[in-house]
Amino acid sequence: MSSAATRFATAADNASSEAQSLVMDMRKALNSMKSLAVDFERAGKPDKVKQLEEEVLELMASYEDCAHLAEAVKDVPGAYQLSDQTTDFKKLIEAEVNKVKGTSRVSGDSQRLLRQFREAVWDVHHAGQPMPGDEQEDVVMTSTQNIILNVKCPITLKPVIELTNPVRCQDCRHIYDKDAIIDYIRRNKAPKCPVAGCPKVLPHVARINCDSYLLMEIEELRSSGPGATNASDVEDILDDEEDLVDDDEDGDN
Ligand SMILES: [Zn+2]
Repeated sequence: MSSAATRFATAADNASSEAQSLVMDMRKALNSMKSLAVDFERAGKPDKVKQLEEEVLELMASYEDCAHLAEAVKDVPGAYQLSDQTTDFKKLIEAEVNKVKGTSRVSGDSQRLLRQFREAVWDVHHAGQPMPGDEQEDVVMTSTQNIILNVKCPITLKPVIELTNPVRCQDCRHIYDKDAIIDYIRRNKAPKCPVAGCPKVLPHVARINCDSYLLMEIEELRSSGPGATNASDVEDILDDEEDLVDDDEDGDN
């Protein structure tokens, strides 16, 4: 690569990570707005909740744009061709954004985030009851729990939230402990995804990586606490944690 091309690629990487960190900030803001909406709902201020939801919808649109841009900008140097004419970068970037839009998970993710928001508000007064409209299949597919597909590495059985090096298969979206999955791929000729029931044959290791969304989603799972998946199980989970401490007593080593 020529030094100009290298500089260009570096600039694109920087622009992409800037957009990416903006995406992270928006996601944090969304989480704060969700907590705030829950507080308003508890306090019996539905008009405030409604207002927040409208703001969330607006933020969601920016979130999608920015996340698409973060993905697309990385591909711009590859699409760029040196020529005598001045390059219309705006057009070039737009073309890449459109390509990314067709394949990216961003809008699915933002649908889940919106759903997460509505679910949190709904649960204040209707915990355990299905949200209106849940009988529709597409709604079930965008449910919040689907962001993190598996909560334990299928090989090491370590909880995903405790992994030092979590990676995700970009095809089937399952999450593994990095060293374990790399070792697993090395030992198997046509390595099938080790998550039970997943039919995917694992792609090249390059497609099993830690995308920045993964760390954020794990962080969200961690900070939402044991009640994240089922609030009524909080006590049970706390009991389990105490059991873990005692585990050494009945160990056979
Ligand atoms: Zn899988």
